[in-house]
Amino acid sequence: MTDSLVQKLTLPTGKTIEVNTGLFINNEFVESVEGKRFETINPATEKVICKVAEATAKDIDRAVDAATEAFEKVWRHFDGKERGRLLYELAELIESNKEELAEFEALDNGKAYTIALSQDLAACIDTIRYYAGWADKIHGKVIETSHDRFCYTRHEPIGVVGQIIPWNYPLVMLAWKLGPALACGNTVVLKPAEQTPLSALKVASLIKIAGFPPGVINIVPGFGSTAGAAIARHMKIGKVAFTGSTATGRRILKDAAETNLKKVTLELGGKSPNIILEDADLDQAVKWAYYGIYTNHGQCCCAGSRVYVQDSIYDKFVQKYKEFAQSMKIGDPFNHDTFQGPQISKTQFDRIMSYIETGKKEGATCFMGGKRHGDQGYYIEQTIFTDVNENMKIMQEEIFGPVVAIAKFKTVEEAIEKGNLTRYGLAAAIFTKDVTRAFKLSNALKAGTVWVNCYNIVDSNTPFGGYKESGHGRENGKYALENYTEVKTVQVNLDV
Ligand code: ADP
Repeated sequence: MTDSLVQKLTLPTGKTIEVNTGLFINNEFVESVEGKRFETINPATEKVICKVAEATAKDIDRAVDAATEAFEKVWRHFDGKERGRLLYELAELIESNKEELAEFEALDNGKAYTIALSQDLAACIDTIRYYAGWADKIHGKVIETSHDRFCYTRHEPIGVVGQIIPWNYPLVMLAWKLGPALACGNTVVLKPAEQTPLSALKVASLIKIAGFPPGVINIVPGFGSTAGAAIARHMKIGKVAFTGSTATGRRILKDAAETNLKKVTLELGGKSPNIILEDADLDQAVKWAYYGIYTNHGQCCCAGSRVYVQDSIYDKFVQKYKEFAQSMKIGDPFNHDTFQGPQISKTQFDRIMSYIETGKKEGATCFMGGKRHGDQGYYIEQTIFTDVNENMKIMQEEIFGPVVAIAKFKTVEEAIEKGNLTRYGLAAAIFTKDVTRAFKLSNALKAGTVWVNCYNIVDSNTPFGGYKESGHGRENGKYALENYTEVKTVQVNLDV
């Protein structure tokens, strides 16, 4: 271990925490081959937190070599029970370090500490435990064919898998990726987002303590166009799982097609419609629709960024929605009553502000917010647009910030048509007390998840993924196991 890689960080609370900033390859923290490092920024202060080793293509080669050796010599020979035991151990270690991990999330990502602890850490731990339980339950079938043959299938691991994750839910995304890949017996090269490498590096140190054999999990922070592309184009990686923007997903598919046709699963963007019918419980609808967009500062792929409200209740809904929004606190991620922290980066901040300007220019009414919040950190006011129509950019493109557009509709048919008027299909929601209408609307909306009288409910055992340009494949639940196994058919001749 290179000592200079260990960094002591002082939190706004005065507490000091420590992280190893090396690349985690073969259970060791190492410098990158080229000795490069990059800065990670605290979005609440715009100041550098520390520098982290930067993986380039040569480091990805090293990590893939380690993962290949671990797969061939060790991991593929482990029983499912043993893989499960290690995953349980990792979940325990994350649980006993959850406060510190939530502090890393608040520092590096800007999300509120209390929310990181109660939601992100809970989901991360739960997902790893869920897949620990699957590790010894992955098996094929016996298929009856003819009396003189015996046929069965095996669900075998793919080998080395590459995993590229985003910055919005660093630990939840890490768990969604590691859990099923390891349960199925694959080894992993995982790249955290360049904006948020710290919590993944802290987990790396727990992976070693849990007792995973060297090379089974390798964590390599770096940039997308270098380290990320090297994973997507690597000839020895059999599968890539990616969560992030649709533009990058497209790039990764192309990279896979141009190299070894590795399998690709993608969880991409969204512009999810949230439809409020006039018979809905108004207070409940306001609350869920609020959390539907502003959770994680709007940086959520399934954010309900297009709210459609039936015309008879529109004015009342908008007023109540604004009052609810005004009661929520924007501020320092380490304050205990903060709901909304800063956006992740200057780039995202500028992008969101430019969408807000576009909305105004397109003729939408900025009913609330629309400006920077404070004078330090990438904070943006909670923003509500009204008087919107489907041709506006703010109704078509993913803003990924605290900006909602609230539109009117008259009939249910109109709501369905407008709801589906998007190239995305990640999620949708409906608010009504009429059960028949709830089912009919759920069937009619083209989205991977439909919430009825709620929003953002995602469980480790329920599938999550998108229709249309929101992605390929499903994560979570039993469905995710299909992404990480090859099915082998064995035909045995009994007529001998
Ligand atoms: P955002 O624009 O919100 O940062 P991205 O989709 O670009 O979202 O990033 C999500 C993840 O994809 C990050 O880990 C990033 O480094 C990675 N990434 C970005 N570009 C590429 C690329 N060309 N190939 C592989 N990974 C990439």
